[in-house]
Amino acid sequence: MLSQGVNLITGARVRGLDIEGGRICGLHYDLFHEHGTQGSGGERGSHDLQANAVLLATGGMSYRATGSTGDGYSLVEGLGHTIITPRPSLVPLCASNAPPPGVRKKVQLRNIEATLWIDGKLAAREFGDLYFIKTGLSGPVILEISRIAVAALDEGRHLELAVDLKPALDHKKLDARLLRDLDDRKIRTWGDLLAGLLPQALIPVALETCGVPEDTSRHTITAKQRKSLRRWLKDYRFVLNGYGSFKEAIVTAGGVATKEVDPRTMESKMVGGLHIIGELLDVDADTGGFNVMGAFSTGWVGGTAAAEQLLLEACEE
Ligand SMILES: Cc1cc2nc3c(=O)[nH]c(=O)nc-3n(C[C@H](O)[C@H](O)[C@H](O)COP(=O)(O)OP(=O)(O)OC[C@H]3O[C@@H](n4cnc5c(N)ncnc54)[C@H](O)[C@@H]3O)c2cc1C
Repeated sequence: MLSQGVNLITGARVRGLDIEGGRICGLHYDLFHEHGTQGSGGERGSHDLQANAVLLATGGMSYRATGSTGDGYSLVEGLGHTIITPRPSLVPLCASNAPPPGVRKKVQLRNIEATLWIDGKLAAREFGDLYFIKTGLSGPVILEISRIAVAALDEGRHLELAVDLKPALDHKKLDARLLRDLDDRKIRTWGDLLAGLLPQALIPVALETCGVPEDTSRHTITAKQRKSLRRWLKDYRFVLNGYGSFKEAIVTAGGVATKEVDPRTMESKMVGGLHIIGELLDVDADTGGFNVMGAFSTGWVGGTAAAEQLLLEACEE
């Protein structure tokens, strides 16, 4: 980039955009370090920069430590752009019974199936890993489900998460598995049976839910007790009541309304020469690289369009 004659100014914070006749004509910024953090020149303090095109790529407001402090929203709000209220996305969720009592360290549940019910209607289903963390529930399935859950929680709807701890076995096969285990001489008690089925941290939950003492002999376990265990293994319920902060959210949902940006150039429909790209826009996606892809793609479209426009203007002069 530098070999192409690009002047890279680092260690700077853009404070405002200059507009004239509905077009961008420059910006001002504060330089925090003498010469910038990478030695890009200039004195510490406030500076103005003339520009016929600006690509605004300030990101959302998640993980502030990465520099995404939400500055972009205030920079464009004054220009007439609509900001769809930013909210955390791909974020841990909270439930009154998570983590289970006594669980203080992260516990990982592998290959479970989680189903989200909103006001009693199936809203999402994900297969994969779920973690109990200090503040509630996390892990890939939770982050994925959070995209729908956060919006519904904000609307005050009733959310339940049903976790199937044994998704590969239907009720019939699971009962056959329990009977087979109970036939095994190495399994002497209800506690031994649970130890073969669950991570240690969940055994107290199973004991409490089924109401069967740990030392109950395998010979005395009834069909009703087996059924209560089976039901819980297939439908471990959580009432969701909150979500993590922007500090924990991988992505920010909301942002500049997309209808106010031309998708062919990413140029603002309010201010000529201002291109708005990346997570600053009201665009968020599932996990799997789609958010980075969105930032790269809009950056490419916006950057190419801005360069072409500048070339055209230079030729016309
Ligand atoms: C921990 C974590 C893990 C992630 N994992 C994935 C993943 O696996 N896959 C995926 O697709 N996405 C992932 N994301 C999301 C992805 O990183 C973002 O969607 C993407 O980086 C957004 O790019 P952006 O350029 O729009 O904004 P950002 O990458 O947030 O960059 C914004 C930049 O603007 C700078 N800035 C802000 N305000 C100003 C200002 N006033 N003046 C000057 N500079 C300013 C910031 O310092 C920052 O460098 C992850 C995010 C986090 C935090």
